[in-house]
Amino acid sequence: MDVTENLKKVLSEIEKSESDAGRDPGSVKLIAVSKTKPVEMIQEAYDAGQRDFGENYVQEIVNKSPLLPPDIRWHMIGHLQRNKVRQIIDKVCMIHGVDSLKLAEEISRQAEKREMVMPVLMEVNIGSEESKSGVRPEEVRALAEEMGKLPGISLRGLMCVPPVCEDPGDSREYFRRMQKLSVDIMPENIDNKSVCELSMGMSHDFREAIYCGATMVRIGTDIFGERDYSNKK
Ligand SMILES: *Cc1c(COP(=O)(O)O)cnc(C)c1O
Repeated sequence: MDVTENLKKVLSEIEKSESDAGRDPGSVKLIAVSKTKPVEMIQEAYDAGQRDFGENYVQEIVNKSPLLPPDIRWHMIGHLQRNKVRQIIDKVCMIHGVDSLKLAEEISRQAEKREMVMPVLMEVNIGSEESKSGVRPEEVRALAEEMGKLPGISLRGLMCVPPVCEDPGDSREYFRRMQKLSVDIMPENIDNKSVCELSMGMSHDFREAIYCGATMVRIGTDIFGERDYSNKK
């Protein structure tokens, strides 16, 4: 597995997608998803210039971050339990999967204790799938308003993991709905020209996501190879 080579390929694909979509070069940030992968591989990506990494499990961030350079920006992209917020609040630069007011309140409380403001994204269950976490599209606006009142968090945008689609056209439909939602709920951010982040697109669908306005893509497999969960409980 040549991480450096893979990273280069992914970055050039991102650049190509930006250009195909008529978007500015550099308008999409790559988050390298390193869940289940060893620190050696993360170090290799770091040495090749990558700084933003995504992890799904609190324990992996807690274990890996002290072993790696301090200027890595860790993104919590997985489902976060309220009782674990405390463990990562000072280790991550952004929490992507906020899907309830209770979780948002806990993040805000823990951030305030440390006199900081945590940037967060609201996770949207854009396919309204029974099995998935995330806020239903019709609930996004109300939750955004409530989250806006919390002093310890800053709502920066939306994230999603849409249904896996055979047809790229179907993926684009979900991503377009996300873009529309983000415009609907954050006109004030757009007036301010502060970017409304859209964290969407993974190894199999990041080209479609970029086409539909993603500002962050979360890519694991295409950089680090398939994940092996066999030695996990
Ligand atoms: C694992 C994961 C990714 C990366 O998926 P790949 O298919 O390996 O690129 C992105 N986002 C989330 C939320 C994930 O859990």
